[in-house]
Amino acid sequence: MSHVLVQFILILVTASTSTVAALAAFPALKNLIQSLPVWAQFLIAVFVADMAQALLHRAYHNIPWLWRFHAVHHSSRHMDWLAGSRIHFVEIVLTRSAVLLPLLILGFSTPAVNAYVILVGLQAVLAHANLGIRFGWLEYLLVLPRYHHWHHARQQDYVDVNYAIHLPLVDMLMGTFKLPRDQAQWPEEYGVMKLETVPKGIVSQHLMPFQGGRRYQDHVD
Ligand SMILES: [Zn+2]
Ligand SMILES: [Zn+2]
Repeated sequence: MSHVLVQFILILVTASTSTVAALAAFPALKNLIQSLPVWAQFLIAVFVADMAQALLHRAYHNIPWLWRFHAVHHSSRHMDWLAGSRIHFVEIVLTRSAVLLPLLILGFSTPAVNAYVILVGLQAVLAHANLGIRFGWLEYLLVLPRYHHWHHARQQDYVDVNYAIHLPLVDMLMGTFKLPRDQAQWPEEYGVMKLETVPKGIVSQHLMPFQGGRRYQDHVD
């Protein structure tokens, strides 16, 4: 359901080219961007989108009331392709809007935005997959399973690192890049540090962020 909702929002927004055209806030910049070949627009779009995503992702980790929503995503105790779809609906809507908005404001062409939408669908599934392939130097260029698995590690020294979902470069720029040198090293355990803060079941997990301070504390106790 979460994954369908993600794609549905993206299709809804990008399908309307008039919305895209109306949102482009800087005509000169839009003309410059659209004068580039689609592949170049696509590369820039991926960087811009990942930067926006990583900044918001960092906010999810550092602002307590936002963390409650994001904790649902981090509550997976096993990493596999489906773990990427365990996301609170509020987070889906918030993240997709925050990522698409700069792309639309800057005026990227529809094919470039569509190509980005396809990539994010594939890479979100791939990054969570339990795929133990060693990718060598490619791990420093693209976000691959081991990179995002370390983001989900239930390990104190890996809390709040690797926010990017496309390009590790984004984390390098933000100072939040961290990967063990030994390519054979994977996290021993996944999940949130305080396991008792996230209830089990899709309904309870969706209600959890809205339960006021006292009820939340009771639950934690
Ligand atoms: Zn996270
Ligand atoms: Zn994840």
